[in-house]
Amino acid sequence: MSKKILVVDDAMTVRNLAKFALGKAGFTIVEAEDGVIGLEKAKAEKPDLVISDLNMPNMNGLEMCRAIKGDDALKDTPIFMLTTEASADVAKEGKEIGIMAWIVKPFAPDKLLAAVKKVLGA
Ligand SMILES: [Mg+2]
Repeated sequence: MSKKILVVDDAMTVRNLAKFALGKAGFTIVEAEDGVIGLEKAKAEKPDLVISDLNMPNMNGLEMCRAIKGDDALKDTPIFMLTTEASADVAKEGKEIGIMAWIVKPFAPDKLLAAVKKVLGA
């Protein structure tokens, strides 16, 4: 069964890039356009990995990840955070929450795929 990855970003171009890079490697991609929808989909789909943007309307990436890590059924889900800039404060908060990796945008599709394969072992 193919592993499932939830991609949460308010920018469709980023979701499409991730979908292209990861989908062609055989991963199943579930998309969400903000943290509220992302959290709903995480609960419904139980993804093997979450890749989330930081800055999004309604609920940002850190808030969503905090909610995921606070949910017993989801707390072990690895999370990658996408960001254009990683301030020390944000990085510290992300570490406390349990963000596994930071990926700086714009990212090379092959690098994203390599990082994902390392975690999912696919
Ligand atoms: Mg954004």
